[in-house]
Amino acid sequence: MNGYELFEAFDRGGVGILRDFYELSPYDVATEGHRLSTVQKYARLARVYFGSCDSQRVQQETVALAEERRLSIEFLEMVNKHAKKLKARGAAWKLRAELIAYEGSYEEVDEHGKKRVTEEGGDKAKQSGVRVGRAIDGMRTISITDTQRRITDLEKTLDAAIKGDDQPRSEALLEPFWGLVEGNGTELIKPEYRTVIALGLDQSAEVFSGTGSESVIGLSDGTTMTGAEIVNAAMEGALGGKLYVGLFHPTAGPVNLYEARFASDKLRTLAMAENLVCPWPDCNVPADRCQVHHIEAHKNGCHTKPSNLTMLCKYHNGVNDDGPRGKRGPRKPKRGKPSRGRMRRHRGKVRLHTPGGKLLDNTHDLSSMGAMDLI
Ligand SMILES: [Zn+2]
Repeated sequence: MNGYELFEAFDRGGVGILRDFYELSPYDVATEGHRLSTVQKYARLARVYFGSCDSQRVQQETVALAEERRLSIEFLEMVNKHAKKLKARGAAWKLRAELIAYEGSYEEVDEHGKKRVTEEGGDKAKQSGVRVGRAIDGMRTISITDTQRRITDLEKTLDAAIKGDDQPRSEALLEPFWGLVEGNGTELIKPEYRTVIALGLDQSAEVFSGTGSESVIGLSDGTTMTGAEIVNAAMEGALGGKLYVGLFHPTAGPVNLYEARFASDKLRTLAMAENLVCPWPDCNVPADRCQVHHIEAHKNGCHTKPSNLTMLCKYHNGVNDDGPRGKRGPRKPKRGKPSRGRMRRHRGKVRLHTPGGKLLDNTHDLSSMGAMDLI
């Protein structure tokens, strides 16, 4: 068996592995080389799927289906993570049965599970507050949870006070933070929305006529606002004196921006309106902190036109494969330096083209709130 076949066999045999673990003591299994906590985790999961419960028939049928579908331990663990949040009698097993029968990738089932738990009222809302940890090796940690608006205003204030960019961001934010707390000249910024707000034409008519106050709109600082909040911000002058209108084509991408003063500013604003967060899959850096990236690199003779630009975070701008492209996707990587793929515009949208030839979107909540999703 080669490495990949070995992985397949393990990952496809979740139910079989757990069935055996149900009979064994984790301390007997955890011999040399096995981590005790991993074995204990499997043993706990085995008790869920094979131990006594309030819905024995559903349990048996669900386990049989999971075995038929050759689901992995990780998959069964994810299903249980959602289901155990439901406390009503029989509710957890009903959800396990639903998720194991659900057709989709791991990520899609995970997403569906999250949605179902919210619908069934099994989610605990995040509590706002300030939490202070104990001292470890002479250092302590403080963490603050509050509304996205208040925390983002604080973040923008600290970002604006960073001097130079030779430090990691978390370190660079520290002195501005203390400056603010100690009142050394730094004041909390009431942000002017240089941040791009992505509004569709229909939506903007609704929002500004007052009928769309409930609609949720994505911003390039990584947060959302309701229609009512946008109208309030406009009345307080926080949207600036000018409103910009971006024109987007469903398959070509951004076309033009009206009312922007400088070409570079205009192109940047359009790119931000299109991608409110970095479009690389699983990235969550908001467009406000991204760089403008040329989809077809300058050196390959491509022009700076709106459809050739996108926002990418500093890290992904660095790892994007800018080299000349072969006929079938990105060029072959140099030995020892695997290619991570490159950004492409595909059917109008900016997507990652993986070295294996897949085209992937970022699935971040705000990725589906940009200008191209509003037309
Ligand atoms: Zn990124």
